[in-house]
Amino acid sequence: MATVIAFVNQKGGVGKTTTTINVARYLAEEGKRVLLVDLDPQGNASSGLGVHVRNLEKNLYHAMILGLPAEEIILDIGIPNLYLIPAAQDLAGAEIEMVHIAEREFRLYQALRDARSQFDFILIDSPPSLGLLTVNGLVASDGVIIPVQTEYYALEGLSQLLGTVELVREHLQPKLQIFGALLTLFDRRNRLARQVVDEVRRHFPGPVFESVIPRSVRLAEAPSFGKSILDFDAFSKGARAYRSVVKELLRQEEQRQAQHQIS
Ligand code: ADP
Ligand code: MG
Repeated sequence: MATVIAFVNQKGGVGKTTTTINVARYLAEEGKRVLLVDLDPQGNASSGLGVHVRNLEKNLYHAMILGLPAEEIILDIGIPNLYLIPAAQDLAGAEIEMVHIAEREFRLYQALRDARSQFDFILIDSPPSLGLLTVNGLVASDGVIIPVQTEYYALEGLSQLLGTVELVREHLQPKLQIFGALLTLFDRRNRLARQVVDEVRRHFPGPVFESVIPRSVRLAEAPSFGKSILDFDAFSKGARAYRSVVKELLRQEEQRQAQHQIS
């Protein structure tokens, strides 16, 4: 069964999409079967992987709202082991339509249920809000990874996010875990940024990944070519950072599997 991970932060521009794409790509490179689910109506994860959503007939909306089987919308994007459920603008309407339908928090969980047995990892790129789409992502997940921009107000807003995770755990998905915070957009020449790293490590109430994602022009350029950093510039510092995040994630995963077997 797949481990399902939501990449969540209600702030925009903190590196959720960049992280989801590149973690997915390096997991696929490690031989894991990966499904990336684009849960953001802006469709940045889809376009960042070179998929032009306007030309597609179906996207995540059709699975979440119209109940179409996931197999019918999963795209082969030409990278071994990596598959995509794209998002498009109509998903923004879904957030409103869902308010009136039964089990509205479980629509994504239900849409992905059959896919779980076909993948090792399902990664969900969330929109920049804590609305119903994001809640659907949390309910469908085993764990949450929180990209945190390495800036002065890094921790601000995190308590609201952690509160939402806690509510989901209490009422909707008791097994939801925090897999960790991941520091992004780190500028090592900036003394303040180094202080922020220390502060997040000290005060974030959960694990923080050892790997830190540097600010890198190559990471910012890759999506406009529709490529992951591995396919765009595999030897850049951003590429090395995401490779190391995935190594860490796989070590975590081994520990979780071992604990699972004991309990
Ligand atoms: P989010 O999904 O949280 O809104 P994105 O991943 O889309 O964030 O990143 C926001 C912007 O910053 C994008 O233009 C992206 O290309 C750029 N970006 C993300 N991570 C980095 C990084 N480590 N270095 C440089 N630019 C980055
Ligand atoms: Mg995004």
